[in-house]
Amino acid sequence: MRSISILGATGSIGTSTLDLVRRSRDQWRVVALTANGNVGELARLAREFGAEVAVCADGTKLEALREALAGIGIDAAAGEGALVEAASRPADMTVAAIVGCAGLAPTMAAIAQGKTVALANKEALVSAGEVMTALVAKHGTTLLPMDSEHNAIFQCLAGSSHKDVRWITLTASGGPFRDWSLEQLQTATAAQAVKHPNWDMGAKISVDSATMFNKGLEFIEAYHLFPVGLDRLRIIVHPQSIVHSMVEYRDGSTLAQLGPSDMRVPIASCLAHPARMDTPLADTLDLAAIGELTFRAPDEVRFPATRLAREAARAGGGIPAVLNAANEVAVAAFLAGQIGFTRIAATVEAVLNRYAPAAPAALDEVLAVDAEARAVAAAVLAGG
Ligand code: NDP
Repeated sequence: MRSISILGATGSIGTSTLDLVRRSRDQWRVVALTANGNVGELARLAREFGAEVAVCADGTKLEALREALAGIGIDAAAGEGALVEAASRPADMTVAAIVGCAGLAPTMAAIAQGKTVALANKEALVSAGEVMTALVAKHGTTLLPMDSEHNAIFQCLAGSSHKDVRWITLTASGGPFRDWSLEQLQTATAAQAVKHPNWDMGAKISVDSATMFNKGLEFIEAYHLFPVGLDRLRIIVHPQSIVHSMVEYRDGSTLAQLGPSDMRVPIASCLAHPARMDTPLADTLDLAAIGELTFRAPDEVRFPATRLAREAARAGGGIPAVLNAANEVAVAAFLAGQIGFTRIAATVEAVLNRYAPAAPAALDEVLAVDAEARAVAAAVLAGG
């Protein structure tokens, strides 16, 4: 039996992970489950899985969580400090599935245990970059990529030397607006943006997919996870989302990982690593039924996000954290109906032009850059 903590247990990745854990209950002991404010669902999951501790990040929800868990021996806690404490409780595996830079401090705490961290929370790695990879190295932590593209690359690399890699190619679905004109993009609504054609995901990543910031963040994520150098990373649009990414070797061989658009596949790959496990996906991949797999170059005029991310990756230091924070603020404003779709990328670019911090060397410095970038983004949105 192995122990597991799930940070962001109530989200899309969290519930898909728990779906797999539920199917092999006898193999897992659940340590910590966390959420932000969804106390009812968190308490329900904590009861079902007999968690040791349940934590909501929203400190105002502590009483409600305590009440929901009264008398059954599950610890209840709230606030950012409690989140970090929960992530520090010994667990063989931690699934980092909080959305946004809010997941950074608890993910770092989980990494410091020196066990296995399965990373879905790309914003944490994009923001912290070398600060996170240095902690992974220091503690000898196994960092497993749960993001489908990075999980695909991880599988295609299968222990090969990075020196033998000619290209790592990230595939992108292109999102719901991939065929829209610039004029049409200006009218895109939040309801349209969260309706991804292939994947069922949380609201923030769905908008990121529509703007292509998701692929931009993944580009920076790949740079840190697979250090082959920025010049050997590229992005290709693949509307069917069947090929999840590819690695081309110097001998001309290209390995690709294919599968359905269901996050339980890469999640299962992490949970069972280095072995394999069953998933409840009944249908085998039927390429004859799919018929065609198509590919095209990204259009960085309609979707500037990948260009901005590539430039941020090249600049390095604190710049990716600025890009991420500005995007989080802009996406929240878009989801709240305060700005139009094309202003998301425009806001990020404006913030990048205004704020160029020195490279952060520690977690608190990354968080300070994140906070300042959010303030600059808020000022940009307010027209200041
Ligand atoms: P969701 O929005 O579905 O879930 C987010 C989770 O994080 C919820 O448990 C939520 O709690 C919690 N949360 C939100 N805000 C905070 C906060 N401020 N502090 C602590 N916890 C918080 O997101 P997804 O599951 O879609 O995505 C999670 C991460 O995984 C993201 O980084 C995303 O980019 C990445 N990812 C997601 C994929 C997907 O298919 N969904 C695919 C690949 C990567 P509550 O429910 O209480 O709000």
